[in-house]
Amino acid sequence: GNRAAMEYLSGLNPEQREAVESLDGPVLVLAGAGTGKTRVLTTRIAHILATARAYPSQILAVTFTNKAAREMKERVGVLVGGAVEGMPWMGTFHSIGVKLLRRHAELAGLRSDFSILDTDDVVRLIKQLIQAEGLDDKRWPAKQFAGMIDSWKNKGLTPPDIAEGDARAFANGKGRELYAAYQARLRTLNACDFGDLLLHPISIFRQNPDILKEYHQRFRYILVDEYQDTNTAQYMWLRLLAQRPQGTPQNVCCVGDDDQSIYGWRGAEVDNILRFEKDFVGAKVIKLERNYRSTEHILGAAGHLIAHNEGRLGKTLFTDRVDPDDEKVQVHAAWDSEEEARAVGEEIERLQRGGSDGKKHNLNDMAILVRASFQMREFEDRFVTLGLNYRVIGGPRFYERLEIRDAMAYFRLVCQPADDLAFERIVNTPKRGLGDTTIRNLHDYARARDIPMLAAASQITETDELKPKARKALFDVIQSFRNWSERLETVSHLELAEQILEESGYTDMWKADKSAEAPGRLDNLKELVRSMEAFESMRGFLEHVSLVMDADKNENLDAVSIMTLHSAKGLEFDTVFLPGWEEGLFPHQRALDEGGRSGLEEERRLAYVGLTRAKHRCHIWFVSNRRIHGLWQSTMPSRFLDELPAAHVDVAVSESNYGGYGGQGGGRGGYGQSRFDKADPFANTHSTPGWKRAQANKSDATRDNWGSRSGHAVERIGYGESGPRTR
Ligand code: ATP
Ligand code: MG
Repeated sequence: GNRAAMEYLSGLNPEQREAVESLDGPVLVLAGAGTGKTRVLTTRIAHILATARAYPSQILAVTFTNKAAREMKERVGVLVGGAVEGMPWMGTFHSIGVKLLRRHAELAGLRSDFSILDTDDVVRLIKQLIQAEGLDDKRWPAKQFAGMIDSWKNKGLTPPDIAEGDARAFANGKGRELYAAYQARLRTLNACDFGDLLLHPISIFRQNPDILKEYHQRFRYILVDEYQDTNTAQYMWLRLLAQRPQGTPQNVCCVGDDDQSIYGWRGAEVDNILRFEKDFVGAKVIKLERNYRSTEHILGAAGHLIAHNEGRLGKTLFTDRVDPDDEKVQVHAAWDSEEEARAVGEEIERLQRGGSDGKKHNLNDMAILVRASFQMREFEDRFVTLGLNYRVIGGPRFYERLEIRDAMAYFRLVCQPADDLAFERIVNTPKRGLGDTTIRNLHDYARARDIPMLAAASQITETDELKPKARKALFDVIQSFRNWSERLETVSHLELAEQILEESGYTDMWKADKSAEAPGRLDNLKELVRSMEAFESMRGFLEHVSLVMDADKNENLDAVSIMTLHSAKGLEFDTVFLPGWEEGLFPHQRALDEGGRSGLEEERRLAYVGLTRAKHRCHIWFVSNRRIHGLWQSTMPSRFLDELPAAHVDVAVSESNYGGYGGQGGGRGGYGQSRFDKADPFANTHSTPGWKRAQANKSDATRDNWGSRSGHAVERIGYGESGPRTR
């Protein structure tokens, strides 16, 4: 009703209100972080519903994650007072794509119960095709081709659209044929990949104007959040749905921020922002300049940092929230990542007990945002030790990772021979030639006699029910487990864990794996063994992990969030921790290797996204030694630290918290050292633990690394900054 309408509109500033109330015709809201773009979208939906302009099922709203969609539904519910009865078309591009495709699958040559392949399935399928073509799959790796297909699909290209030149790049010019063969194979399998979830609907709309028309009538209002990160295919999809015949209103509203475009590597095109005004003639462009989220210090730091990017549309941001008690952005240094995790843990506990303001803070209001997911492990470990609840957003938690589950399955089976789930998980991991048939035989054998599978395996190898090769392989597995179980009493559990991973061939399996994730997985395995140190026995450790896993399942638990910067988009937290601000990690080495400006600028936008997630407190960390892929390297503080304005930043770099070896000599020592490490993979320093290195390098002026780039850090960072405009 009218009164409700007044309530939700009255909280908006005039520009926001204009964006909410401009319901007829295209609208583009282009504005910085925390200015209320998402709030505008939510309120706009509420307004559409409250004024009865459309039913919930007539609104198409695209969010960045499914979680964001759920939250938006809740928020709309609050605004209109009462639950929103089904907003079936609110979700990510992919989730909406699945829904469309299920309805019209037959037009894409699929049945409506088609399956969606994950990346592993895709690579396996492509490998088969490459081999079927008689090509050498070492020379033409399936993974690489999967990447090519993905980027074609991101650009909206089907096989006939692939230019000669592009296709030549792979498999002696057979790229296009292979792509076509892949699509044909998917059809036979009644399957599609992620890219197809957009591409198929695009083709369907293009080839069936009557169907497109149906959706034009259905979707009265179209809204898109995080618009800066749409890729070409997504844009094509959107344009098909939003562009209407002459004379019909094009009620599409997109909100975005070019400074937060962080998916260029996945084909996102910031240019879509500029295209919008061309494709939707008469679009109303609205700017929001007031930030409601962050303190002036956080905003000042973020604004100053992002001003170092050249390719920007440019915009103003200001805040009203100027409070002399607000703390500046804190920059801390640590000796290595373990100390970093320890210090962050301490700070979190301090806030929990009561911060400097005396207020007790909830863990829910804190987040740790990392550049690379391998950084999470150290924090997770630390939090498990401290008994601090945490949740990992947008990826598996440490103990849920594939390689950790595999390793744990080995340990479980050694301690509990009746654990059939563990047995089935690893009996043929790594590959031992024990195929599905063998496992099924074994299963039946065990079921018939009501005995565990490991025991069944032991019996069956004494019969001639299995082929000789399988029997031999199975026999070896059983022998190994017998051995390990005996050692439970004689060898320390740490040693045993290491032996199991070595002797089973599990570690070797990942060493032989050439995929990008393999080094990280090996790291995780080492970390797993290390984390067992805190326990008396393997059984004790297993018990601990099962308890941790169980406790964490509770969604409503007060818990610190850990996630990558990429998945933090759109979110906000009272306190944000940003660890790992070092050259090579952040900005990431890949971006630096590219050389050009664009990679580095995308990293900087990522830093901007990180800083602007914080409402009240933002703590940045850098370490002087980091283990990357199991190797210790001395590191340089991130250039982004130099780009923060002193007026809004406190630098807490003392000798004691930076390893204690600072001050003397030039900073080149540390830098030279790390370059040397990278150049010579066989240098001894690699296997030297940080603390040993610390002693060896006592004269290294590691602390001055920062200074080596910029003179004295503290003095330098304030140079020529301009804070946010305040009123
Ligand atoms: P991002 O670019 O990070 O996605 P955003 O522009 O989408 O940010 P929102 O998340 O919508 O910003 O809003 C940021 C915060 O400011 C939220 O907590 C929101 O509730 C609050 N906010 C937005 N507009 C107002 C307003 N007019 N009055 C009070 N609070 C507001
Ligand atoms: Mg938002």
